[in-house]
Amino acid sequence: MAVKDEIHTLADQRRNTERLMADDAGVSRAAELLSHGGLVSFPTETVYGLGADATDATAVAQIFAAKERPSFNPLIVHVPDVAAAQKLGRFDDQALLLARTFWPGPFTLVVPALPDSPVAALTSAGLDSIALRVPSHPVARRILAMSGKPIAAPSANRSGRISPTTAAHVLADLDGRLDAVLDGGATNVGVESTIVACHGEDIRLLRPGGIPREAVEALLGHKLISVADTGDAAPRAPGMLASHYAPAAGVRLDAVDVRPGEAWLGFGGLQPGGAEPVMSRNLSAEADLVAAAAALFSALHALDASGARSIAVAPIPKTGLGEAINDRLSRAAAPRPGKA
Ligand code: AMP
Ligand code: MG
Repeated sequence: MAVKDEIHTLADQRRNTERLMADDAGVSRAAELLSHGGLVSFPTETVYGLGADATDATAVAQIFAAKERPSFNPLIVHVPDVAAAQKLGRFDDQALLLARTFWPGPFTLVVPALPDSPVAALTSAGLDSIALRVPSHPVARRILAMSGKPIAAPSANRSGRISPTTAAHVLADLDGRLDAVLDGGATNVGVESTIVACHGEDIRLLRPGGIPREAVEALLGHKLISVADTGDAAPRAPGMLASHYAPAAGVRLDAVDVRPGEAWLGFGGLQPGGAEPVMSRNLSAEADLVAAAAALFSALHALDASGARSIAVAPIPKTGLGEAINDRLSRAAAPRPGKA
């Protein structure tokens, strides 16, 4: 059977989770599964990651499904070296200095995404920045080299549970929800990577982690602006790094018709009544929530760019990935300062 046919595409389908040893055969099997859209857990020096091809929106949607994340937060993209990172993000002198000093290692840089980046919009939750890391763990490095793909990988645990530091932890939480676990023994840092955002002169600590803040400050020669830890470390306060993509157009949820000047975002077979939409997209004509999650951010960007005053969105079920899709859409629909 072709590898592609062995990989299930629906979140609620149970998968056969292969146990792989971190030898040549195991690493090449892991790389093969990843390059065909599979989900593979592998060790990094911090914790075990749940990896998928960052350029494959459907594979990335399945990370969120497996973790049962109730919202889409942007994921860290793992690459083999600085040169690979520079194909995805824009590095100024400061970012390059940080990258060359702390990579490979437990250090993540958030930089502006390159406009022609192949990374799926869902990976960065629709933001125009990208979080990049070069891990030092030899097994992670071999997978990155062999797959030849940037790999999106949050920690390999269900939402709200503890980050895994062994393959057994991963299986206890996610067995049957991913294609393989590559067992490379216990990870040795055990805490997550330090995340620093570099937007020109604005350099911020988004999350403390394996590289101490003092080491970063000593290199830069000044203190880092800190973003208060919000539990999941996402910067949320207004005026801080924009952590959520919000369309310029208004968003109207649970719509069954289109009003004049509106764009239409459909789901399933519902045919809206009312006016002719300025532009229309369907998240999934088959009403598949994984496909809908994969298409969400690029659809919102396209409809927003149409110049429509508002986007009417068909009702979307709130089960499975539908919870995260509805969360994202209701944030986009919420009134914002400066908008009517
Ligand atoms: P985890 O999924 O546990 O590895 O955590 C990833 C962290 O990286 C989260 O705290 C995200 O908010 C943060 N992150 C990833 N990408 C970005 C980005 N483009 N901008 C800001 N924060 C990011
Ligand atoms: Mg985590």
